[in-house]
Amino acid sequence: MNIVICGGGVIGASIAYFLGERGASATLVERADIAGAASGKSGGFIARDWCDGQPQAELARASFDLHAELARTLDTDYGYRRIDTLLVAGSDRGGFERYGAAASPEWLDGRCAVHSAIGSPRTTATIHPERFTRALVDAACARGVRLVRGTVDGIARDLGGAVRGVRVDGTEIAADAVVIAMGPWSILATQWLPLPPVAGLKGYSVVLAPRVPVPAQALFVEYENASGERTSPEIVVRADGEVWACGLSSDDPLPIDPSDISVDEVKCREIARICAALSSRLDGADVLRTQACYRPICADAMPLLGPVPDVPGAYVATGHNCWGMLNAPASGRAMAELLCDGASSSVDLAPFDPARLEAVRSDDAADQGSRIEGLDPPQGKVRGGHEPCVDHDHAHDRGR
Ligand SMILES: Cc1cc2nc3c(=O)[nH]c(=O)nc-3n(C[C@H](O)[C@H](O)[C@H](O)COP(=O)(O)OP(=O)(O)OC[C@H]3O[C@@H](n4cnc5c(N)ncnc54)[C@H](O)[C@@H]3O)c2cc1C
Repeated sequence: MNIVICGGGVIGASIAYFLGERGASATLVERADIAGAASGKSGGFIARDWCDGQPQAELARASFDLHAELARTLDTDYGYRRIDTLLVAGSDRGGFERYGAAASPEWLDGRCAVHSAIGSPRTTATIHPERFTRALVDAACARGVRLVRGTVDGIARDLGGAVRGVRVDGTEIAADAVVIAMGPWSILATQWLPLPPVAGLKGYSVVLAPRVPVPAQALFVEYENASGERTSPEIVVRADGEVWACGLSSDDPLPIDPSDISVDEVKCREIARICAALSSRLDGADVLRTQACYRPICADAMPLLGPVPDVPGAYVATGHNCWGMLNAPASGRAMAELLCDGASSSVDLAPFDPARLEAVRSDDAADQGSRIEGLDPPQGKVRGGHEPCVDHDHAHDRGR
């Protein structure tokens, strides 16, 4: 069986890796760079139990354990580290001290106080997201998976409606099965397949190089600026000493070409300023990168993992929202089982069945494409739907 995976983000990469492990005949098609979108620009923060109480609890726990296994078996150091995670309150206006219920690490010497520890090395970890995604693809290719650079622009079907191939830059690649794993660009596939809508939510981030090292930790911050506006930055100190921080978002529509994503430098400067306000070690840090990316989200904020209804040979794996780096390993393994064995044996995919959500009707497909710049009509029908991703016990919604 020939399987074509469309999209070289962390989800496509993980499916390719687990198919490669099984010796399946698979091709991964990526239009730009591997991990060039959210999978390379995200925080790379992962947590074992922060999805508890949600349909993806089992997926998250299985993924967290698989991350530990992959860190041992993949032949690359991509910065997997178990870390402490802290909930921090900060303010330009003062008064943050009253939230300080836990000991503060020495490097957090600015306008902030540590409220509590919300993760420990037992439950939270970090990876370098781009290196992790590339490590999966390298390992997949070493096991025979073929990597094709090109843009998927259609699905070919036989007279009975089953998948026959994937059109890449106008040329058909024969396939018995195709997996749509194009992150937020999976919305484009609603023009070819009966899929539910997937939206893209844009978030900005910066990568800093502190002159004095800071320990590998993650911070979930509630920050108040001088005018009293609140933001919720997340700061992840990586194993290589780089500090990634996010916290501001926008409603910009998704451009068709990932390389056209614009960066709002004012928002990025504000993220860097908050970092500097929290710690003297981040004040004056070199800004290595300012960046933006879109996370894929469905109407119920849960992933789509499974067969596309009524189209034999068509599958989808997307919509991982703010937990795609975390949930990629168990998603990839389960999809490989589904493709090769006909069912997933490692995790129950029923909560992620694409059939649970209404598919875009074909006459609506162009309309659903309105999240995409340049496709008419410009109405943004699937905009919004942002759900809190973290159990409220953790007192912090991952509102990127
Ligand atoms: C600011 C921010 C921070 C985040 N932090 C974290 C975090 O700390 N932990 C966590 O678990 N998750 C985090 N996430 C979420 C995570 O990044 C995403 O869920 C995940 O990267 C989605 O992966 P993906 O493979 O589905 O999509 P993407 O990474 O978007 O990959 C899709 C790929 O498909 C390709 N593509 C698109 N169209 C085509 C086409 N026509 N043909 C071929 N290829 C195509 C694109 O070029 C792209 O490479 C964060 C997200 C954001 C926005």
